[in-house]
Amino acid sequence: MARYTGPKCKLCRREGTKLFLKGDRCHSDRCAIEKRNYPPGEQGRARYSRRSNYRLQLREKQKLRRTYQLLERQFLNYFKKAEKMKGITGENLLRLLESRLDNMVFRMGFAPSRATARQLILHSHFEVNGKKVDIPSYKVNVGDRVAPREKSKNLLVIEESLKSYGSRGTVPYLSVDVAKKEGTYVEEPTRDVIPVPVEENLIVELYSK
Ligand code: SF4
Repeated sequence: MARYTGPKCKLCRREGTKLFLKGDRCHSDRCAIEKRNYPPGEQGRARYSRRSNYRLQLREKQKLRRTYQLLERQFLNYFKKAEKMKGITGENLLRLLESRLDNMVFRMGFAPSRATARQLILHSHFEVNGKKVDIPSYKVNVGDRVAPREKSKNLLVIEESLKSYGSRGTVPYLSVDVAKKEGTYVEEPTRDVIPVPVEENLIVELYSK
């Protein structure tokens, strides 16, 4: 599956906010947003004096898409799915993105970033309800149990990541047993508990044009 492989910190600087793409570095003073919070490029500081509606909508979309590290087409497919679901499209979109297996592995603390989570899943280190799953976009359902496979439980990257579980922030819709190295998707989240600072209504407006 194709994915973005360019410099990650540039994406955060473009959006003017932390997207947490690099694991522990994002929580340290080495974070590029702490040092240079302006868009990359020679004209970075001078850019974007005009704030059109379209620009605001586009930036919110890019921010969300880059947070979950998806390509345009993948993101659009999620949006179309969210539109067909009952309820508020923007919130449905966030819930769909949150239920991806790579996001779950990251949020449960088994990986320091979604990119690492994706790599670990692709290399068959995780299971859902006891069955191996090697698809990062796999949709985890409420009640599902996510855990490293028996042979992977002692992987250094997983052990190291779990050590700082909690310090990166937890969410109430997941329960994690750090000692057993397993997590459960307990309930569908409401918008207010999903820690993604985007205005999803602007994304809905953008795609409704
Ligand atoms: Fe973004 Fe993390 Fe780089 Fe900071 S360190 S700019 S949060 S990817």
